[in-house]
Amino acid sequence: MKSRIINSYQTPSGQRVEVVKQSFSSFHKPPIKRVAFVSGLHGNELEGIYLCNLLTNYLKKLQNTQPEKFLGEVHIYPSVNPQASAIGVRLWPFLSVDLNRQFKNTSGNSLARSSAETLIKDLKASADIVVDCHASNLHLKEVPQIRIIEGFHKKLIPLAVQCNVDLIWVHPPSPVFESTLGYNLNKSKIPTLVIETGIALRINQDFVSQLFKGMLNLLYHLGVIVTDKIQPKVNYPIVIQPSQVVILQSDFPGFFIANTDVKKNVSKGDIIGKVLDSMNGEILQEITAPRNGFLFTLREHPLIYPGDLLARIALKEMD
Ligand SMILES: [Zn+2]
Repeated sequence: MKSRIINSYQTPSGQRVEVVKQSFSSFHKPPIKRVAFVSGLHGNELEGIYLCNLLTNYLKKLQNTQPEKFLGEVHIYPSVNPQASAIGVRLWPFLSVDLNRQFKNTSGNSLARSSAETLIKDLKASADIVVDCHASNLHLKEVPQIRIIEGFHKKLIPLAVQCNVDLIWVHPPSPVFESTLGYNLNKSKIPTLVIETGIALRINQDFVSQLFKGMLNLLYHLGVIVTDKIQPKVNYPIVIQPSQVVILQSDFPGFFIANTDVKKNVSKGDIIGKVLDSMNGEILQEITAPRNGFLFTLREHPLIYPGDLLARIALKEMD
C-alpha cells in the first residue's frame, strides 16, 4: 500500500491539514479496472470512514500475502474533509460551506472550492469507477442504500446491485445535485455510486459490515481482486422510483417515539411510532403504515415540528 498526500494546507494557527489517499497497485499490467472509495465529504458522516478502514485493513493483508490477487487498482480516500471530521461537523469549518456542493465548474477561489477541485482531478486521473460514501443526517436513520440520478441509472444499476445494499433509489435530476462530486464524476463518464447509510455521528456496525461485504463483492465482480474462496451471495436490492416512496410526516410539534426499526417489512396498519405531547402526556398522532412495504428511513431525533419527516416506506409493488 502506498500513502500519498493529495492536498495539504496550513490553518491560521499553524497546523498542517492533509488529505490522504491509500493506493493498492495492480499485479496485472495494465490494471483491469481502477476503483476509488471516497468518504468524509461531510465531516460528521463517520460510517464511510469506518468502511474505508475495514477495506484498507483487508486489502493491506491481501496485498502483503498475495499481491497476485490484485488484477486492478484500488484507491481509498478515507477522510477528504479532515478538519470537519475531527470536530464532527458536516460543513467545512470556519467557511461553513458544504464541500459536496463545490464540484460544479464555477468561479470562486475559497479553500473548500480548491480542495474540491484537487480531489475531483485526482479521482479523474486515478479511477474508472468511484464509490462515494455518505451517512444520513442527525435526524433520520437510513438502511444501506444507493441513490442514483435518473439518466445515469443504466450504467449505475448493474454496479449498484453488486453492493449488498437493501435499496436503490432512482431520483429525477434536480439542480441541487449538480454541484455534487457524484453528479460531476458521472457526467464526466466515471460511473460513481453514492451510498447513504445509518445516521450522522454514529457507526452502525451491522450496516457497515453489510456494505463491506458489498464493496468486496463489487471488487470481485469487476475483476479488480480475485479470490479462491466461494463468495457468499449478496442481497439483491429493491430498485425504486420516487412514486414508490411513501413519506410519513408529523402533523404536530412534539416528541417522536418509534415503535419499530428500519430494515423491516411493514404491513398496512402497523404502528411505526407515536407523536407525543411533552406537556400533558397525550398521544397527538399515531403513525401507521398506510400500505405494505419496506421501512427504509426512520426518525431518530425525537424533537419534531409539524411537517418533519418521520419515516419512509418503499412500496415493493404497486398494490
Ligand atoms: Zn453526506
